Amino acid sequence: MKYDVVIIGSGLGGLLCGNILSREGYSVCLLEKNGKLGGSLQTFGRKGCIFNTGLNYTESLDNGQILNQYFRYFGLTERLKLRRLDENGFDIISLPSGRYPLAMGRNNFKENLLRYFPGEKDGLTRYLETIQGICASVPLYNLSDKSFNILECSSIGVGAADYIRSEISDPVLQNVIAGNNLMYTGHDKKTPLMIHALISNSFIESAWRVVDGSHLMINILANNITGYGGTILKNAKALKFTTDNNSIKSVLLDGGEEIEGKYFISNTHPEQMISMIDRLKISSGFSYRINNIEDTIGMFTMYLVFKKNSFPYLNYNFYHYNQESTWVVGDYDISKWPQMYALMPTASSKSESYAESASVITYMQFGELEKWKYTFTGKRGDDYLQFKRDRCEKLLVSLEKQFPGFKSCIETYYSSTPLTWRDYTGTRNGSAFGLLKDFHRPMESIILPRTKIPNLFLTGQNINMHGILGVTISSVMTCGEIINVNDLINKIRNA
Ligand SMILES: Cc1cc2nc3c(=O)[nH]c(=O)nc-3n(C[C@H](O)[C@H](O)[C@H](O)COP(=O)(O)OP(=O)(O)OC[C@H]3O[C@@H](n4cnc5c(N)ncnc54)[C@H](O)[C@@H]3O)c2cc1C
Repeated sequence: MKYDVVIIGSGLGGLLCGNILSREGYSVCLLEKNGKLGGSLQTFGRKGCIFNTGLNYTESLDNGQILNQYFRYFGLTERLKLRRLDENGFDIISLPSGRYPLAMGRNNFKENLLRYFPGEKDGLTRYLETIQGICASVPLYNLSDKSFNILECSSIGVGAADYIRSEISDPVLQNVIAGNNLMYTGHDKKTPLMIHALISNSFIESAWRVVDGSHLMINILANNITGYGGTILKNAKALKFTTDNNSIKSVLLDGGEEIEGKYFISNTHPEQMISMIDRLKISSGFSYRINNIEDTIGMFTMYLVFKKNSFPYLNYNFYHYNQESTWVVGDYDISKWPQMYALMPTASSKSESYAESASVITYMQFGELEKWKYTFTGKRGDDYLQFKRDRCEKLLVSLEKQFPGFKSCIETYYSSTPLTWRDYTGTRNGSAFGLLKDFHRPMESIILPRTKIPNLFLTGQNINMHGILGVTISSVMTCGEIINVNDLINKIRNA
């Protein structure tokens, strides 16, 4: 059978493109290499607890806010159970000098910080106006139907850390404002102000957890696709594209099957997409660029199971730094590991008073895993397991200092490294958010959905932005290359 659209990868980007296009009447075939759909939205269960892997919290879901409107269109708003985080501190930034809240709502955000930094009223006001202005200038963050080219946004060429330093005088507040930069692997010499602004402003609007696991989102989105007549194939690894003149004709799967299509969308890391195409069909400049763009750093996650009713459920994320600077990536030092971590309890419908489980996330460079580079999940050997246990123990020592008695609340723990991500999602070197965006080289590090091959498109976190909101917007940009983007925006606006 020949499909209208073949989508490779069922991460959030693939699922959303599948939703949009099948709803528009296109016959869609979604291919996933794993036995489970969802990519980074996958969850896993241990000891009766659910663990999120790549969705710990999300943003702008109050009525009238941007992700709420997108979720409405995808049928998620009314079908997902969501928990709004603490209004007066959805993120707590813990530095050696003290703990500081990032609060929801622009005024509330400012007032809460002014209690600690009373002299910074003007700087905070200007900062909030700037990040709001940047969001307002990006059409798909407002569902306006102006055409959008990320390269036209001037804040893509300005450094986030430089901007914050220029606006805010107190060095502690400068660090607090960027204190949740794990959400964009903030690099003080590379991260564009635009990335900081789009993410921070959206979380300041409102921050939420999905209750009982992000796999519920996958189920809803996958059911929508099949409900609209689409096909989903699991354990269907795409290996190679075949071409007909200048276009893609089909994709060959691991098992030998050939899936033909009119349009093809790749939700994989762009380097993987390039490796699937005959070298002569893709411009050498594009391949060179993709192969040479740096990726964002990977993450080490410790998944904790708490003893029943032993550790309180924190309705916020706790970002702890063992140093004053919150810009850790550019200053990564293995000898000081972990320089920071985020403790993110899972929201469960079983209790709002006690935490059942939590993730503790920190950075990990791929180089530390070099020794196990050629191994696969579950078969990496005892020394790898010992390495992971050692890293978990280091995290627990630091957590115990912040929450005395913490270790005694833990029943057991599990962990994942960037190698785990590489093997599950196919992202290069287990990078957390794919291609790194560098404000010095915006032209090089920003990839648009259209390729030189007329029926091949890209979607997901490497286009536009990572994260739930970023990838949602990427999917609209991608589908807007196939269907009329203004009609689509109108439908989302009126959902
Ligand atoms: C540790 C961590 C924590 C995070 N926490 C948050 C958070 O709290 N909030 C937030 O907004 N974002 C968070 N993110 C980011 C967010 O999860 C991602 O940006 C987003 O889910 C990426 O979606 P995607 O569609 O680009 O691709 P992916 O999730 O990477 O999916 C790609 C899919 O393609 C499949 N695939 C790859 N190759 C092939 C092939 N050859 N054939 C078939 N299928 C293939 C993969 O198996 C996978 O299913 C986090 C990320 C990490 C790493």
